[in-house]
Amino acid sequence: MKEYSLQPRVLVTGGAGFLGSHLCDRLLRDGADVICLDNFFTGSKQNVGHLLADPGFELMRHDVTFPLYVEVDQIFNLACPASPIHYQHDPVQTTKTSVHGAINMLGLAKRTKARILQASTSEVYGDPEVHPQKESYWGRVNPIGARSCYDEGKRCAETLFFDYQRQHNLDIKVVRIFNTYGPRMHPNDGRVVSNFIVQALKGEDITIYGDGQQTRSFCYVDDLIEGFVRMMNTETGFTGPVNMGNPQEFTMIELAELVIKLVGGKSKLAYRPLPEDDPKQRQPDIDLARQRLQWEPKVPLEDGLRETIFYFRTMLNS
Ligand code: NAD
Ligand code: UDP
Ligand code: UDP
Repeated sequence: MKEYSLQPRVLVTGGAGFLGSHLCDRLLRDGADVICLDNFFTGSKQNVGHLLADPGFELMRHDVTFPLYVEVDQIFNLACPASPIHYQHDPVQTTKTSVHGAINMLGLAKRTKARILQASTSEVYGDPEVHPQKESYWGRVNPIGARSCYDEGKRCAETLFFDYQRQHNLDIKVVRIFNTYGPRMHPNDGRVVSNFIVQALKGEDITIYGDGQQTRSFCYVDDLIEGFVRMMNTETGFTGPVNMGNPQEFTMIELAELVIKLVGGKSKLAYRPLPEDDPKQRQPDIDLARQRLQWEPKVPLEDGLRETIFYFRTMLNS
């Protein structure tokens, strides 16, 4: 396998998005030369505006569904809208982004002999019948529903990663991300953390879908990025998939109450219908990440929410 120079050239697709922009920050701090690629569908130049003057940083407008010829040592493939509102806006493009995007980035990795990491998702488990989910669980995904463009696109991307590894000996890494939150989340992306915080800051009702007893586990962005970097630097042959997320589980009602407490407003809970195919429970089993990466989340929900509330407060006031 390839020896890495001291200053690796790293491509981050979806680099102007929520997770991608934090990853660019971290890679530059670690001394990498970063190419941030994005078509700005859900990401923004603002998210990486503070990096534009850094000589190690390059911003490229490009859509991963088209071929890309650059010379790199590592690729983090994050390009894909992540929130249901965004990925259901143009479902065909969502599937193309995951599938054609993976093919192009794998083709690029094959030609340049770069190591490549895929940002996969807990959604590959669908609405799971086992709880918590281990990496060995194959999932329960509806292939023809409203969420399928995302779930099946990501599943197919994983298939492509493992076939390129078996067929072309590519150095792949696959991370299955569970719900992650933090500053630079899109305020209108409909995800629960951003919705609740924005509603609480505006003094509006907090919208609980269904009875609010469904659970999610929320990982703070800094913890996740630490996990990404550790995974990218594991030995060749350790491919994953590896779950990354915070195993501490909360109901949506518990989350709403915590947000109201931290924001200090007078918002009330308002119940709305549960969206189609909404998973009832989701919690990562992170034993593998603990063993192989010595990684586990460190930031408690309350601390991460404070940072995120601060970000949204500043954003709404500007
Ligand atoms: P995001 O929407 O903020 O970021 C995605 C980025 O990809 C955006 O900047 C967007 O403009 C870009 N993009 C979309 N389609 C593209 C295309 N065809 N070509 C080039 N760029 C394109 O979302 P995020 O939360 O930062 O998610 C990043 C990755 O992590 C995604 O692949 C997502 O599926 C995965 N993920 C995120 C979470 C989470 O909780 N945030 C959970 C599971 C998986
Ligand atoms: N590709 C790319 N950049 C590269 C090399 C390949 O975008 O540096 C794309 C190319 O368009 C191709 C895809 O990746 O369609 C898959 O490449 P691969 O070499 O696996 O397949 P092939 O070129 O044989 O179709
Ligand atoms: N949710 C909610 N109110 C909102 C937005 C979301 O109760 O305003 C619920 C949603 O139905 C789901 C959970 O919160 O059960 C997490 O939703 P999100 O879209 O953030 O993530 P995902 O469903 O992809 O895990």
